[in-house]
Amino acid sequence: EENNNIVVERTFKSATSKPVPKPVVTFDQAFYQYPEILKEIEKAGFTTPSPIQSQAWPVLLSGEDLIGIAQTGTGKTLAFLLPALVHIDGQCITKVERRGPAVLVMAPTRELALQIDKEVKKYEYKGITAVCVYGGGNRREQIKVVTDGVDIVIATPGRLNDLVEAGHLNVKYVTYVVLDEADRMLDMGFEPQIRKVMYSIRPTRQTVMTSATWPMGVRRLAQSYMVDPIQVYVGTLDL
Ligand code: ADP
Ligand code: MG
Repeated sequence: EENNNIVVERTFKSATSKPVPKPVVTFDQAFYQYPEILKEIEKAGFTTPSPIQSQAWPVLLSGEDLIGIAQTGTGKTLAFLLPALVHIDGQCITKVERRGPAVLVMAPTRELALQIDKEVKKYEYKGITAVCVYGGGNRREQIKVVTDGVDIVIATPGRLNDLVEAGHLNVKYVTYVVLDEADRMLDMGFEPQIRKVMYSIRPTRQTVMTSATWPMGVRRLAQSYMVDPIQVYVGTLDL
């Protein structure tokens, strides 16, 4: 029997916490204002939001920070990606006026970064553009694409920090950050690069973190960079 145990709560419980937004049951409930997004979901042939998506979308669409803890293959990419598209769409500033991306996604490996990039490109929406940069890729080419007026940058932390430190990538306009597979990024030793990049991003941003596990290192990252995050846990209970 499939165990889809779900726990949703404020990670750092405080007296001032607002209630957690209610989950959606259908794609329509989350994106009725965005027919372009609904059309793409329909094209993909999806019938129902995955458990993490139904919890994550209302949270992210209401502008709150989110930690998604779930195993691979549970639909975490679209959980953070579709609200990112809505976030960009709602901005008054265009990518030409902005001198850097509005959305930044950090992922542990080149393969994962490229996978996210592929998914983003499927959901092309109102001309929103994404680029992917990673270690081992052509640096000169990457410098060109990140400075060309772009909405979403998907990156591995090493190359990202390199491009930011060298002044090629401006993260001052980033208002939506995703730390995808945070536990793996920490396991791979990316904490210093993540922290350096996060330091350059404005504090008034929305922050999303995904992880398969919830170790101390990931908790510390959440504590450092998130504001009263809502945690969605999908999986088996370790009691
Ligand atoms: P994760 O990041 O949690 O490992 P992904 O976001 O890569 O998982 O999604 C795994 C697969 O599930 C992808 O092929 C994706 O297109 C598909 N998928 C995502 N959301 C849904 C959905 N609501 N219904 C069916 N399939 C979905
Ligand atoms: Mg993933």
